[in-house]
Amino acid sequence: MKDDGKNNYNVFKPNPNSGGIERLTLENSIRKALQLNEFVVYYQPQIDIMTGDIIGTEALVRWNHPTLGLIPPAKFIPIAEETGIIVPLGEWVLKTACLQNQVWREKGLAPMSVSVNLSSRQFSKHDLVETIEEILRETRMDPQYLELEITESMTMNVDVAIEVLGKLKELGIHLCIDDFGTGYSNLYYLKLFSIDRLKIDRSFVRDIMTDSNDADIVATIIAMAYKLGIDAIAEGVETKDQLDFLRSQNCHEVQGFYYHQPLPAEQLEQLLMKSAEI
Ligand code: C2E
Ligand code: CA
Ligand code: CA
Ligand code: CA
Repeated sequence: MKDDGKNNYNVFKPNPNSGGIERLTLENSIRKALQLNEFVVYYQPQIDIMTGDIIGTEALVRWNHPTLGLIPPAKFIPIAEETGIIVPLGEWVLKTACLQNQVWREKGLAPMSVSVNLSSRQFSKHDLVETIEEILRETRMDPQYLELEITESMTMNVDVAIEVLGKLKELGIHLCIDDFGTGYSNLYYLKLFSIDRLKIDRSFVRDIMTDSNDADIVATIIAMAYKLGIDAIAEGVETKDQLDFLRSQNCHEVQGFYYHQPLPAEQLEQLLMKSAEI
């Protein structure tokens, strides 16, 4: 079993020629890993710039592989999406994140939102709304603290999307457009759907100090969101300069390594307990 790790690792390397067998192998491994409970959810804090408080988290899945260690989502989410295995995986993440949120509330921590990424595969399942309703019921999660992150790369039928997103809003859930600015139909979405928040993509935030175009784009997105009455959060904030720029443009919420990396639940809990002095 000495070389086991090495051989397995190849399975996760992006391979442009990757044939059906490799894909099938990975799909089966993901399926098995779900049964064996090998996935873990990390939580990256979202910060109110003015107060420095943690106001929410984004749930980000990792695969805690018994021999390979912690595998980042970039290594398995694309194939999970391609094969459809993202549907049960995404449901598991949602349920886990809701349960965790409820546990933290019961421990007396201040209410905090949790944002969960929704894949287009989940979105196009006819029973999405029922599934989410059931998860809310089972976990006793207060829907106003749940946010679903959707990307506009989701190829969806607009009429269906309006209906589904409308139903989710009726449940009291919040909606966020992730990776805002990277697609082409953003503004159309904002008009059609009642979006609560948009997340400015990391690729713009990364270069705001060096590329004046990116700085202008970010400033414009923040101003536009404000006018539309939509919250704006910037992701991928790594430096004080970036933070100061965002603050100067009246962006109120950020997420990024400058404050925190995604953290295991126990680690975030310690942090929250410490700041709440429970
Ligand atoms: P995303 O939804 O855009 O998530 C943000 C990613 O940016 C996370 O990567 C996070 O760790 C990273 N990040 C946050 N702040 C910084 C920063 O300051 N600098 C840098 N360099 N990176 C930062 P992660 O956790 O590796 O996730 C990658 C992607 O995998 C996510 O991008 C999302 O598209 C997907 N993903 C993760 N979890 C799930 C899930 O449960 N369901 C679905 N459908 N997709 C997921
Ligand atoms: Ca996201
Ligand atoms: Ca994002
Ligand atoms: Ca992204």
